[in-house]
Amino acid sequence: DQDFEDRRALQSRLCHIGHKIMVMSGKGGVGKSTVAVNLAMGLMLAGKKVGLLDVDIHGPSVPTMLGLEGANIEAGPDGLMPVELGHLKVISMGFLLRNPDDAVIWRGPVKGNVIKQFLKDVAWGDLDYLIIDAPPGTGDEPLSICQLINPIDGAVVVTTPQRVAAMDVRKSITFCAQVGMKVLGVVENMSGFVCPKCGELTHILRSGGGRLMAEDMGVPFLGSIPIDPMVAESGDMGQAFVMHHSASPTAEIMRSVVAPL
Ligand code: ADP
Repeated sequence: DQDFEDRRALQSRLCHIGHKIMVMSGKGGVGKSTVAVNLAMGLMLAGKKVGLLDVDIHGPSVPTMLGLEGANIEAGPDGLMPVELGHLKVISMGFLLRNPDDAVIWRGPVKGNVIKQFLKDVAWGDLDYLIIDAPPGTGDEPLSICQLINPIDGAVVVTTPQRVAAMDVRKSITFCAQVGMKVLGVVENMSGFVCPKCGELTHILRSGGGRLMAEDMGVPFLGSIPIDPMVAESGDMGQAFVMHHSASPTAEIMRSVVAPL
């Protein structure tokens, strides 16, 4: 039957993909997409074959951050063709929306079906890593992903110093425990400010909370990424930060934060 066929087709795609990692956050605006994009790009620059799947339909920022706005997904001989940026293969919900307002009418089951298609019908080929940028929170999309990708390596949870104490980070971690998904680690983003003039790091918001929270919840702490104006600028300009500012101290920190993955 159709369901069996679907599952077989899905498995035959996924078995060509080494590691599958979902990037999550409790709330929006904490830098989840920034971490996902730079994680994917960093792995690619390290010589890995990488796919980046952006299923954040309410705020698909991956096309903007990679300068891929207006790109289309086309059909090829082996399925839908991801948009290629060097050796990085990118699929975004954003590529399907002519008008960002369209997303409002996409209900849970529709989104679940699109995610399934993106995993089953896209010609990902052989990948070392598939990085999935999930929308903030613990709604339909992260649930679909961990039901469809079985087994999944786990989740990276991104938070900011002020959010660390908030319930929403803990909710993400509890969600992972409930669905049986490993938390690969917590990343504290926007942790301290790097002066663009002198490069000095100042802790504007309290820091260290991410490590304590991770210890408390029994999950690994991957590290802290500072607020760096160049990160925001790169995102707006559609240039992956770790690629265009590879020699900067913040890029070095980003690489070291995700090195354990
Ligand atoms: P989310 O995916 O959690 O909604 P984004 O990755 O879109 O968050 O980031 C929100 C905004 O903050 C973007 O404009 C991004 O460029 C900026 N930003 C993210 N991380 C940093 C950082 N470490 N330093 C400076 N700006 C950042």
